Amino acid sequence: MRLFRYIIGAALLLSLIFLVRAWRNPRNQQFLTWATGDDDVRATLIAERDPCATAPFILPSEGFVGLLWNDPRGPYSQSRRHQGIDIFTDEAPGTQPVYAVADGFIYREDDWVATVIQRIPSDPLQPNQQIWVYYTHMADVQGNDFIEPQFERGVTEVPIKQGELIGYIGNYDGNVPSRIWTHVHVSVVKDSRGTYLNEYFIDNTLDPSLYFGMALDYESAEKTLPCP
Ligand SMILES: [Zn+2]
Repeated sequence: MRLFRYIIGAALLLSLIFLVRAWRNPRNQQFLTWATGDDDVRATLIAERDPCATAPFILPSEGFVGLLWNDPRGPYSQSRRHQGIDIFTDEAPGTQPVYAVADGFIYREDDWVATVIQRIPSDPLQPNQQIWVYYTHMADVQGNDFIEPQFERGVTEVPIKQGELIGYIGNYDGNVPSRIWTHVHVSVVKDSRGTYLNEYFIDNTLDPSLYFGMALDYESAEKTLPCP
């Protein structure tokens, strides 16, 4: 009986330590501020699109970079970490523009409601290596897309320049009936033999930090910004 009480006590103590650590995590504090703070405080969380002039990519949209690459926080977990970054906006779905992060070519599969992927023939960090950039949630909850007409479903190899408009941020998440916060999800995806790997798996993506010149890996995001 006494052992049982010790076990319960230890479990409660561990839970408390976990909760306090989660509460003190500055990244979680930022989320609370974004969800509940007043407009002036929230404005301090909004990242500029070009935070590092010498970085090869620009951010696709202005907003709060809330979920990071390699992020284990909900709806993700230690075993299923976030494979891109999420940029949240205050604007209504279909209002906040999404721009190309670099020069390249747009592809969109026939059944992609809210998504495009961009081929970048030469990775600026590993020249001669091709990479891809994936953008999603550019539709409303009913699945009406906010993607520019030249990137209609089924297109391949549509040229685009850095900073050109792709579409607008939405809140569509086809598989989940619940409403998601309005955001764009962006990931840097590895190539295999000329085509993109499935970006659902983090092993098929790259740490976006050096591309954007911001600390975007959850595990090292408290360190100095790696503006190259
Ligand atoms: Zn995401």
